Amino acid sequence: MQSRRPVVLITGGSRGIGAAVAQLAAERGYDVAITYRSERDSAEQVLAACRASGAAAVACQGDVAVEADVVRLFDEAETALGPVSHVVNNAGITGKSSKLEQASAETIRACIDINVLGAIWVAREAARRLSKSQGGKGGTIVNISSVAASLGSPNEYVWYAASKGAVDSLTIGLAKELAGEGVRVNAVSPGMTKTDIHERSTQDAGRMERIRPHIPLNRIGEPEEIAEAVLFLISDAASYITGANLPVSGGR
Ligand code: NDP
Repeated sequence: MQSRRPVVLITGGSRGIGAAVAQLAAERGYDVAITYRSERDSAEQVLAACRASGAAAVACQGDVAVEADVVRLFDEAETALGPVSHVVNNAGITGKSSKLEQASAETIRACIDINVLGAIWVAREAARRLSKSQGGKGGTIVNISSVAASLGSPNEYVWYAASKGAVDSLTIGLAKELAGEGVRVNAVSPGMTKTDIHERSTQDAGRMERIRPHIPLNRIGEPEEIAEAVLFLISDAASYITGANLPVSGGR
């Protein structure tokens, strides 16, 4: 099936911020390819919501940390929907929260594999497919970073903060590399946002309430608020913006 609406591919689109981006993109006139690693049921729910908004939508299973999976994810998305125009590099994990000295090599390696290597594989594949010189039509990449990159996440997950620092560097470098190819590359850096990522990293039920007073707007963000920033950067309204990193963090 060939699609006439622009196609956006969102890694980790089955839950949380990625799911909100997928649903808002569908509402705004895009067709949507989401990727997920393990939770097919969540992906199906997102697909149903996207289709209810009139979008063509497909879910592709794969691990962004695996180079061959990333190529296949793009292939499957393009077979189903046509050429991808926008890529949201969103899949990410923190790993179990602790001081660095207590963190296992397994926890750190999984985070770096997914957040850094995975983001780079996805960005590289996006660059190959979107570049005008390689047959693409330009387009955009939005990398999902985190305010953790500048805050450092002490006592929780400094390795995660470091992984997002790498995402920021990826954004700056790739924006310059692809500007001549008609591809804009930007980042969105969420602050604390209501998703499952927190429950998966810590059993500390009071953590969000302790952090809330340190957020100038005095509340935790909603995934839909991050999605609005992503959809802006994808859109033509952001046509002169590349290499930017937009914090969506309630002022934190
Ligand atoms: P969630 O845990 O809610 O969702 C993560 C998504 O990523 C899921 O769709 C999951 O798929 C997918 N995913 C995880 N690992 C892989 C992998 N190896 N390959 C493919 N897909 C994978 O996280 P959030 O929505 O909270 O986070 C999204 C992004 O936003 C991340 O990059 C995160 O670092 C960043 N962020 C989040 C903040 C927050 O407070 N929530 C704050 C700052 C940044 P599946 O369900 O199948 O496992």
